[in-house]
Amino acid sequence: MNLFIYIFTIISLYACGDSGNRTNFSNNDVNKKVIAGDTIKTNIPAGLQKLLKAYPDFLEKADENNLYWKDGTVMVWDDGIKDKSHDEMLDNPDLEDMMSQQYVKGANWDEPPAENFEPGRIRYEPFFTKMYGSSSGEVQRNLVNVSWLPSICGCTIQFNNVNGAADKMREVSDEIEATLGAQFHKYVSKTAGTFNWRKIAGTDRLSTHAFGTSIDINTKYSNYWQWDGNMVWKNQIPMEIVEIFEKHGFIWGGKWYHYDTMHFEYRPELTME
Ligand SMILES: [Zn+2]
Repeated sequence: MNLFIYIFTIISLYACGDSGNRTNFSNNDVNKKVIAGDTIKTNIPAGLQKLLKAYPDFLEKADENNLYWKDGTVMVWDDGIKDKSHDEMLDNPDLEDMMSQQYVKGANWDEPPAENFEPGRIRYEPFFTKMYGSSSGEVQRNLVNVSWLPSICGCTIQFNNVNGAADKMREVSDEIEATLGAQFHKYVSKTAGTFNWRKIAGTDRLSTHAFGTSIDINTKYSNYWQWDGNMVWKNQIPMEIVEIFEKHGFIWGGKWYHYDTMHFEYRPELTME
């Protein structure tokens, strides 16, 4: 009898210890590992959390200063360079710079934009070339035809199919047709292009038109800082159109200090709640 109790006690102690160890290991593991999705831990910068949620097809997890891609690529969040000017952030950004300005959706935004406030215009280019293509040929292999406003424009545009961007473009087209009256049609009945492998004029940076993830609507009713020769913000595009694009993951160049009111760009990391 005594021997039985002794053995039972030993087994119980061992089992408890084992169980405790497993629980501790499990907690540590969860703290280190954050998978794209709903389970988000607070030690991951908010901007990285948004990237994980916006691009689940490519991104695996993140920690305090790194973004881990499903193919094993690691991108650093903060490159450690302090006090970059706005121009330096445009030319040599890290992911942190890219996510440093908060895009505000809807009609109630801070209009006109403050000096150099232009969320989305700072882009860490390797992040996008990796997903959408790093050459004209690579991007073109990802382009699909989208029927743009069949009853208003009757146009076919090319858009990148990666990350569901082309599907979102179709949703924008459907909602404009279904909800906006004839007075809005002139702004969208012509487009000034989607895919175009080119750099932004006067810079060494790729335009997002190079990725096939942007559309320019009718230039006749658009304002662009480079055309104006001054930085006095102007806009003719109705907010009803802007809000439909934003609802489906697009940001609007009209909310930038360097304004570009014809320009919409698929950036779900900036439009998510
Ligand atoms: Zn554009």
